[in-house]
Amino acid sequence: MKAAVLEKITSVRENPQPLSFMELPDPVPVPGQILVRVSACGVCHTELDEIEGRTPPSSFPFILGHQVVGVVVNRGPQAAKYAQGERVGIGWIGWACGQCPACREGLENLCPDFKATGRDLPGGYAQYVAVSENFAFSIPEIFSDAQAAPLLCAGAIGFRSLRLANLTDGQPLGLTGFGASAHLVLQLARHLYPHSELFVFARSECEQQFALDLGAHWAGNTGEKSPQKLSAIIDTTPVWKPVVEALENLAPGGRLVINAIRKEEADKDQLLRLDYPLHLWQEKEIKSVANVARRDIEEFLALAAQYPIIPDVEEYPFADVNRALSELKAGQIRGAKVLKME
Ligand SMILES: [Zn+2]
Ligand SMILES: [Zn+2]
Repeated sequence: MKAAVLEKITSVRENPQPLSFMELPDPVPVPGQILVRVSACGVCHTELDEIEGRTPPSSFPFILGHQVVGVVVNRGPQAAKYAQGERVGIGWIGWACGQCPACREGLENLCPDFKATGRDLPGGYAQYVAVSENFAFSIPEIFSDAQAAPLLCAGAIGFRSLRLANLTDGQPLGLTGFGASAHLVLQLARHLYPHSELFVFARSECEQQFALDLGAHWAGNTGEKSPQKLSAIIDTTPVWKPVVEALENLAPGGRLVINAIRKEEADKDQLLRLDYPLHLWQEKEIKSVANVARRDIEEFLALAAQYPIIPDVEEYPFADVNRALSELKAGQIRGAKVLKME
């Protein structure tokens, strides 16, 4: 099969071709696994973190990609959950042990043996991928393959962030950064918290306008003060400056949820601006989001189909994977980027 692989850690800015194409043997499903022919795979900021070494893959060369949609073409022994020809999705959670205290409490995203698709297990930047059938998901019919892809990570982890924001209906919510995840969270929040006003902080006017088009009550630059203090803010930026700025916009007792697997180091000195009374006092909280549990994906897919929430996608042919990654790095984002296989 054809696969786009990462052979070594590199900088996406300095190396516009971080992935190379390779012919690899088709994966063979082991007991409990299904073989999926990939039709679409989302491009996520986490892939930049992998390529640049902030959360590197477990070996090299490695196949990235964790927002995978495709069709079951073969089943290993004892795999019976999905029929051949059925459409399934695969997200970031590729495996968790099911036995440890975290798994038993429903926090399989915090399992010490958590395995991520496209980092610890081969991902979807390829024609085929094998996955445990218990970590694959049915895709509601309403979505095309490309539309379903970003729901599996950007949407599902956005849903988890929103849950962790601990909002009650009517409380104002902020979103700092407005990429693939935030544009889905905004639409979800409008349904789950219909009386809450939504405030979006984004660096480009194009992103700000996109947020207003989707129903934000206010949109401004990441450095601006919101017109009112906010009960919760979800941060999806890769850097530190918006974290400090968001803390200032939080109401007393408010919570900042950082939805990022890693932060870049370049502007870490911004943290020295932290002023205790201005940014932290008054019982403000900071909480990070780690990974996703299967229930985040299952519940989000069902909610997204019900409302419906249709992601805004920008499609790239598989051959253009490096261009998609470079444009993501450059911040050229409206909605979610998705690779179409063929
Ligand atoms: Zn992702
Ligand atoms: Zn576990």
